[in-house]
Amino acid sequence: MDIKELLRPTIKALKPYSSARDEFQGATDNMVFLDANENPFENGVNRYPDPLQRALKSLWSEIKGVPTKNIMFGNGSDEVLDLIYRAFCEPNQDNVITLPPTYGMYEVLANLNAIGIKKVNLDANFQPKVDEILSVVDENSKLLFICSPNNPSGNSFNAQAIEKLVSEFQGIVVIDEAYIDFSKEESWVSKLDLYPNLIVTQTVSKAYAMAGIRLGICYASTEIISVLNAIKPPYNINELTQKKAIELLSVKDIATNQIQDILSEREKLVKALQSVNYISNIYPTDANFVLVKVDDANKRYNQLIEKGIVIRNRTTQPGCVNTLRLTVGTPTENKILIDTLKSI
Ligand SMILES: *Cc1c(COP(=O)(O)O)cnc(C)c1O
Repeated sequence: MDIKELLRPTIKALKPYSSARDEFQGATDNMVFLDANENPFENGVNRYPDPLQRALKSLWSEIKGVPTKNIMFGNGSDEVLDLIYRAFCEPNQDNVITLPPTYGMYEVLANLNAIGIKKVNLDANFQPKVDEILSVVDENSKLLFICSPNNPSGNSFNAQAIEKLVSEFQGIVVIDEAYIDFSKEESWVSKLDLYPNLIVTQTVSKAYAMAGIRLGICYASTEIISVLNAIKPPYNINELTQKKAIELLSVKDIATNQIQDILSEREKLVKALQSVNYISNIYPTDANFVLVKVDDANKRYNQLIEKGIVIRNRTTQPGCVNTLRLTVGTPTENKILIDTLKSI
């Protein structure tokens, strides 16, 4: 597959903005920087940030075992997804495929970018219907979004099903791994070399406890990464974000330990949910949340709000009638949730 053929003509022809920091690299400490019209008085943020986030990228590369050349950062993975649309999808012409019930941003971004959307609902076990997906593809289908583990169902998709989609779909397959660190499945990042049309996204918002700094990660071939680097806003990851991420990622084992705690809390939560009499189904989860089926989702949602507990009502999503999505919290929060669910 020739990735260049999938790019929008305007993107293929684009000359990226060249920032002061792009044009001069190789700074040493005692140099005089008069190239970017910055205020020279030091306060920690008076200089533009590194547009390629080299220090942060090499740290993340070490943590994940992926070469820096296959990594791009976005202002949240939502920015990464938007850049992917803008690279590959021609407005009012191309379309993307999504697999509801799934993460809402794929559709919002399609609408925002004037891109068509073909939806193929997941089956009753929240697994992709591979043949049906491949049958709706047309010559303008540029992106296929696979969210695994899936939000809001929580399950991972069957690996053979994903494999078939990645090998047979003649466009870009985006595997959104926002919850991969909670999963027993392996990341698809290790398969980038096998599939030139594969893009994997991750985020520090969930397992890494950094939703507030807005940092998303994109992994792809060097060919795709260089296109995304060329079209991203030059300074898309601000200095505070880069510094804070480096600071928190440098604390050894913090994420690993918290993930273990969340997983053991999830197990306890699932057990306790079994004795709530109006919960009729607890869906298998590979993420830091649990989807449950109740007798009346709107009623239970409002009762919980009255008790000061905010969860997500997913009842309007395809295949999700009367379901609620519960995020795994601290042991104290989970106890409050369970006690309240039993009392209402
Ligand atoms: C939370 C979530 C994201 C959001 O990632 P950000 O990096 O915070 O923008 C992406 N995908 C899925 C499936 C999510 O649930």
